[in-house]
Amino acid sequence: MLPALKAMVNFTQIPPDLKWDKKVIKLTNEYNDLVKKFLGKPDKKNEMKIREHVVKIEDAIITEVNDKVKRDYAFMIQLIQERHPDEDIFTAEVLTLQEHMLGRGTSDAELLFKEPGSAGGSPTRAQTQQPFDIQTIDLTKIDLINLEKIDVDQLEKSNQKCAFGDGEILDEHGNADGEIWRCKGCKTVYHENCVRVCLLMKGSCQVCDVAFLRPQK
Ligand SMILES: [Zn+2]
Ligand SMILES: [Zn+2]
Repeated sequence: MLPALKAMVNFTQIPPDLKWDKKVIKLTNEYNDLVKKFLGKPDKKNEMKIREHVVKIEDAIITEVNDKVKRDYAFMIQLIQERHPDEDIFTAEVLTLQEHMLGRGTSDAELLFKEPGSAGGSPTRAQTQQPFDIQTIDLTKIDLINLEKIDVDQLEKSNQKCAFGDGEILDEHGNADGEIWRCKGCKTVYHENCVRVCLLMKGSCQVCDVAFLRPQK
């Protein structure tokens, strides 16, 4: 049983953008079909089907490797979430990923339902943006919990390994690649970029699973 099932959500259809990748359009159309069914018969079974589809959408944006397609997914997630400002449709981690793919303050004001087959208009915001670079995630702008930045001399030992399993924190010259972060829960340490990856993929510690992102509301 999914925990979010306790409250019935007023699901809304969203307009797919014909410029989106066909994989994204397919998931969007499936979402809209499920919403249509739910609106015709708003019971737990139909709501559950939408919840399951949302998980599918989340898996899709996380595992997608093409940045252009990832942004299309992010746009779709934004459109769905915008229609539910008071409800947690998506997990905090996926919303963080979505925000970093698109930047804050975007909206679908110019996006309208189009008849299938009609030609698309001007390029979408997603297509005019630069490729996503994980370094652009500014850790100082994220409300991190249970994580602290430490100095090299605060490491327990000089060959301490990163929680992400990608090797030691310090290189052979004793230098760190970027900042060093430490989980307050289990004291495991992370490379700066490994914290970013961890936030995008999981939002909690690789080792002890304590949350790094504040739960929404
Ligand atoms: Zn930990
Ligand atoms: Zn690492």
